[in-house]
Amino acid sequence: MAKAHETILEIDFRALKHNFEYLKSKIKPKTKFLAVVKAFAYGSDAIEIAKFLENEGVDYFAVAYTDEGVALRDAGITKPILVLHPLPASFKTLIERCLEPSIYSSKVLSEFLEVAAEEKQVNCPIHIKFNTGLNRLGFNSEDVDFILYQLKNSNHVKVKSIFSHLAASEDLNEKVFSKNQIDQFDDISKAMVSGLNYRPILHICNTSGILNYPEAHLDMVRSGIGLYGFGNSKEEDQNLKPIAALKSVISQIHKVTPGESVGYNRAFKAIQPTKTATIPIGHADGLGRQYGKGKGFVTINNQRAYIVGNVCMDMIMVDVTQIDCQEGDEVVIFGKNPNASEFSATVNSISYEIITAVSQRIKRVYKK
Ligand SMILES: *Cc1c(COP(=O)(O)O)cnc(C)c1O
Repeated sequence: MAKAHETILEIDFRALKHNFEYLKSKIKPKTKFLAVVKAFAYGSDAIEIAKFLENEGVDYFAVAYTDEGVALRDAGITKPILVLHPLPASFKTLIERCLEPSIYSSKVLSEFLEVAAEEKQVNCPIHIKFNTGLNRLGFNSEDVDFILYQLKNSNHVKVKSIFSHLAASEDLNEKVFSKNQIDQFDDISKAMVSGLNYRPILHICNTSGILNYPEAHLDMVRSGIGLYGFGNSKEEDQNLKPIAALKSVISQIHKVTPGESVGYNRAFKAIQPTKTATIPIGHADGLGRQYGKGKGFVTINNQRAYIVGNVCMDMIMVDVTQIDCQEGDEVVIFGKNPNASEFSATVNSISYEIITAVSQRIKRVYKK
């Protein structure tokens, strides 16, 4: 790969293919695979990622909001798309664009049935979401009778899947809790299936669920972070490859003498002669202010250069006193080494946060 001459997010499709195959090797051939491509495919590029995975034979996609699904349909994606958190204001669009809503409360169910009737839908696919402990979105087990009653009185919708979401699948200290979620879901699905008289797709596992709870793969698994190269543990990170590398370049080098300061609010003051490099990436690009003042670092010629002073909107300054480097040299923010998980650990954050923060302003470059 040519060196970066500007700030880019390099997306490696070979790594994506590797991750997809690794995760598939963990499930039975008949278990369906849903790729979670919400939030621009975790900050990468939802359209390119979805096109690639559709070609590779993925069964399903999920996004968080209706507009994200619309963008995929506009790009020609034809596989079914589950919208995890559709808001009633978007139901009409959702139906028109053949997207499939997660229905998570009585209010949302009634509102969706109303719109489905208005839109003259017959057997419009919906997904019923149950809360088994995350307490974020979902019906509770006591709602089963109400749901079945509502559905019996309508031919406008048909339940395509029943699902739940694990709260702590990556935390092996919470195995008892996760197993309880799985058992609760099992009871709920049995009651739903017997009431419906047909068997929708059942699913509960996210990436760490796939890796840690093989007994709970059921009919389908949902993976996001694993596809993008992170397994929520040191061991699993070894088996996956980060698909995205955030790179930049040195714009200018400054020699700072003792007593001089660097950046806004003079947050860095030199005690000894210091060499700094200015890099064209800032908090508007997703590199938050918490990385400033010596916490975060970038990698230049394989050496760590810590951020000095405050992160600016469009730039950072880093300490390169000990690094042999020049204006125009490549800078790695995260990629293989450090990966996004290691990079974000410097501010007690996680891979999910830093990769999804990479702003749309940064050019995506594809390695196919
Ligand atoms: C985001 C999300 C996922 C994907 O989780 P990962 O940990 O990234 O694999 C799966 N299911 C639901 C409901 C989600 O919101």
